[in-house]
Order: sequence, then C-alpha cells, then structure tokens
Amino acid sequence: MPTFPFTAIVAQDEMKLALLIAAVDPSVGGVLVFGDRGTGKSTAIRALAALLPSMKAVPGCPYACDPASPPQACPHCAKNPRPKKNVQVPVPVVDLPLGATEDRVVGALDLERALSLGEKAFEPGLLAKANRGFLYIDEVNLLEDHLVDLLLDVAASGVNTVEREGLSLRHPAKFVLVGSGNPEEGELRPQLLDRFGLACEVVTPTEIKTRIDVVRRRDAYERDPDAFCAAHAKSEKALQKKLTSARELLPSVDVPDAALESAARLCLALGTDGLRGELTLMRTARALAAFEGASTVTDEHLKRIAPSALRHRLRRNPLDESGSTARVTRAVAEVFPG
Ligand SMILES: [Zn+2]
Repeated sequence: MPTFPFTAIVAQDEMKLALLIAAVDPSVGGVLVFGDRGTGKSTAIRALAALLPSMKAVPGCPYACDPASPPQACPHCAKNPRPKKNVQVPVPVVDLPLGATEDRVVGALDLERALSLGEKAFEPGLLAKANRGFLYIDEVNLLEDHLVDLLLDVAASGVNTVEREGLSLRHPAKFVLVGSGNPEEGELRPQLLDRFGLACEVVTPTEIKTRIDVVRRRDAYERDPDAFCAAHAKSEKALQKKLTSARELLPSVDVPDAALESAARLCLALGTDGLRGELTLMRTARALAAFEGASTVTDEHLKRIAPSALRHRLRRNPLDESGSTARVTRAVAEVFPG
C-alpha cells in the first residue's frame, strides 16, 4: 500500500512544520511530538520520508553511504572498493521498539569471532539502518533514560561508536530523531527534553469540520490508496520541490544581528537555561526562512517558530500555573509588540 501523502494530512500544522524544518536542516536536532494517541504522528513521519527525494547510495554498504562521502568514514567503504554504479534508495524511517536491547540499537560486536578469527565482526543495529533518515520512537518517555541519552548523543555527532572489551568500531549514523509520547504516561527528564531541537503538541481536533475532513480522507485512502495518492501527486511534487530548493538556499540565508537580538530577548524573557534555546531558535528560524524562499531571517520567522523551539526549555515556575505554550506566547507578545 502506498504511504499516506504528507500533503493530505489534515490540520496538525505545528507538527508538520517542525518535521519539514528538520528535513530542511537536520542539524536543528530531533523533534519531540507530545499528544493524544491516534493523532497521526507516525503517519506524518512516514509521509515525510516518502516525500523526500530518494538518495544515491553505495551498493552493499550496510550504512547506505552517500557515494560522495569519504570512504574512510565508514568501516564497510574503507575496506571495499566503491562500485562504479550506485543505487537509489528511499530515505529510511526506522522504528525503535521500546523493548529493543542496546545491542539491537547500537549494533553488536562479536567478541568470539574476533578472538578466534582475528576479524572484527560487527552486526549493524537500528542506528546503522537509520543513517541518512529518521529514527522514530513512539512513547520515547517510556524508554530508559540512558538509551535516550545515547540516541541524542549519536544524533548530535552523526557517528555511532560501539565499544566492547577493548574492541571498538565507529560508523556513520546521521539521522533525525523523532520521539513521540503522551505526557500523562510519564515525563522525560528536563535534561533530555532540552536536547531535542523542537517540541510540538498535537491534539485531537475539536472542530467538527476538521474531524469530518480527517475521517473522509482516511476512508478514501483506505478504500483506494492508489487513486487517493494519485489525487495528491501534484501537491506532493510541489512540496518536494519546495524542500529541495530550501536545502539549496539554506547555506546562504542571512541571520542579521537584529534577529539574534530578538532571539536573545525572547530567551531572557522566558528565563531559558544556557544558550541552547537561542541557538535552536536561530537555526530553526533560518530553516523556516529557507523553506519559504526568504534570504533573510526576520522577527516573523522567530515569532512563528518560538513555541516549538522553546516550550520544552522553560524552568518550572511555581508562581506561574499557565502551561508552557501560553508562557511562550506571552513572551512573544512582550518582545514583539504590535
Ligand atoms: Zn559505507
């Protein structure tokens, strides 16, 4: 069955934008999606991956290396001469199940084979599969903290290092980490929360018209997926083009001092810890500008992305009972009057 088209997803604008921004600039860090069950979180990620242009890869490489990347960065490509012909592969979306062992996630070094045959035997794990794509964890708040920490480390560095009893192996693992969860079922530690680039909230739509739209589209898709996808092919192509141009434009988008000053004032008003908030705000606003074909970041970009970039970085304020989204909205109104 073809994937449900991204452009056919009704409402959930904040989540869609956060995912698009991560696709424009994966260095903004992972995306955290909090909210009700059945709001189409995993549908959106799969749809986004299917929308992205397929990628050139080195045939036979378990990490699906980019043929333009240096072979030394990959244990497979360093040993095997690169074939003349490349393959086209879809952008991977890898699901990380909650019960997965660390070996299954990071990969396993076979010590016995190493000792008896003197060769480094490595069984690549889910992080290898996710290279150049997305790693999706449903209910990330139920995953063990040390595993979340490890995933965030690898996502930030783009390299997975596996070490066991004196043996070690490194392989490329560049991916966008997408975690979803229901905050009622357990919270993420604040130290982990703020390492995600963007956080968005999704709710089941309450507007009747939107609900009808969701039901109709889901029904039409399930009855005839091919016809449904064909009907959205044009808008999918258009969005794909927009993403490709955004990626090309990104390196030349200008971030003027005035925008950085606004970002700093916003973070000061909210009392976010450290400078990670500003850094993320700058990067995400730049990716948003690129997505919209703008060559300069403006306050408008900052305002729109501020809730997703900052709401998970606020310290608890016992005197302020309002939710984090409301606090960001209020700070935005203070810093950008009018
Ligand atoms: Zn490789």
